[in-house]
Amino acid sequence: MTRVLLTGGSGFIAAHILESLLEHGYSVVTTVRSAQKGQQILDSHKQYGKDKLNYVVVEDIEKPGAFDSAVVSDPPFDAAVHCASPYHFNAKTRDEIHQLISTAINGTTGILKAIKAHAPTVKRVVITSSYAAMVDYGKPLTHVYSEVDWNPITEEQAYSSAPFAYLASKTFSEKAAWDFVKDEKPGFDLTTINPPMVYGPVIHALSSLDSINTSNARFTWLWHTSGALEKPEAAGQRFLVTAGNYSNAEAAQIIGEEYPEYKDKMPVGEALKPGERPATGVNGYDNRKSIEVLGLKYRTFKESVVGVVDSIKGLL
Ligand code: NDP
Repeated sequence: MTRVLLTGGSGFIAAHILESLLEHGYSVVTTVRSAQKGQQILDSHKQYGKDKLNYVVVEDIEKPGAFDSAVVSDPPFDAAVHCASPYHFNAKTRDEIHQLISTAINGTTGILKAIKAHAPTVKRVVITSSYAAMVDYGKPLTHVYSEVDWNPITEEQAYSSAPFAYLASKTFSEKAAWDFVKDEKPGFDLTTINPPMVYGPVIHALSSLDSINTSNARFTWLWHTSGALEKPEAAGQRFLVTAGNYSNAEAAQIIGEEYPEYKDKMPVGEALKPGERPATGVNGYDNRKSIEVLGLKYRTFKESVVGVVDSIKGLL
């Protein structure tokens, strides 16, 4: 397996996946919304020739047939990683919420349809779904989440707030992907990666802090997707990908300790010790599958926090 189509290459997570794929020797074509964003990616990877890294413009993943030409390549693709999806909590009106949800669903089904129709060599599709498609606010806070959990959010609830709209966009689009595979029986198998908040160094182009991606706006941990691409056992599987619980107070404490120049700016709170859970309760998690099947080794929270701060220091 050597050639991969990666959607949304201008995004925070996709930028890390791109690095990981290139480091592991894959050749990658990434989709971006404009030639300018594509050129920025090529400019920051001058060591790779066009045979190793190139881009294709897909202006709007929601449009019917948006991916039809992007999935066609010479040499043909072996796999696809679908990251492009709106991630924000800004959808407030009914129209904005409708737009968010339909972009997520149509973007996901769009790429699957295009691959089935035009890219028969693709054998594996990995989708960055989310813990948002697992969490169930009706369950007690201490519920131990794993791959069997599905968010039961309804269409009506989706329209009740911006965060619920995002949860619905991830739940409905992941369900649509699994339904597609069940109903259409394409020549590829599907793996979904379901992380909660992802924090880490910002390595995609960022002109100002205002355009930082949603999770790092709070400020991460990262994973290597090549594991999900390469493991036959990952076929047809969801993976809850999480390093564990954290608190904002812990992040503030780490920043205060590691960066004395920002200590005075940090809110004061009582940080939990690693592994400690707050008395008010916090969701449990079972991440064994991600470790046993994908072989993930999680970074520490401290490493993630330091990674974020180092990468945005120049913009603070
Ligand atoms: P970003 O916002 O950094 O990246 C999103 C990407 O999707 C960008 O490349 C963006 O393009 C592209 N995109 C959005 N809407 C469209 C559209 N209509 N047409 C074409 N491209 C579009 O988000 P992340 O990297 O954080 O997230 C990537 C994926 O991972 C998403 O599916 C998200 O739901 C999921 N995820 C993220 C988590 C996190 O904590 N970060 C946690 C769990 C899941 P552009 O750059 O041009 O705007």
